[in-house]
Amino acid sequence: MVCPECQEVSDADNVNVFPKNLALLNMKKAPIKIQRSSRKSQEQLCKLHDKKVEAYCTQDRQLLCIDCILSETHKTHEIMSTQKASSAEKELLLEKALESENLASSLEK
Ligand SMILES: [Zn+2]
Ligand SMILES: [Zn+2]
Repeated sequence: MVCPECQEVSDADNVNVFPKNLALLNMKKAPIKIQRSSRKSQEQLCKLHDKKVEAYCTQDRQLLCIDCILSETHKTHEIMSTQKASSAEKELLLEKALESENLASSLEK
């Protein structure tokens, strides 16, 4: 029992395949990315010590747990709080999002 109207609806789904919508999709994705990364930095654990990350090394662009911070490796490196880092990262991502937005609009022309 197939309703002829339903078939029309499934045809409408194929509109998503249109390449023009790709640029729109990318623009919509950008803010989601920012939300994800800020949440990630809060939950992230240190790969080396499996501890909650407390700081961000601007030299290595790496998240550091308390053991990392106290280790010799990052002793001479510039370290900032994860809160500060996530807002700095957010700005970076926003810049990138704007860049890709500009790219998308320039591609359309
Ligand atoms: Zn660590
Ligand atoms: Zn470092």
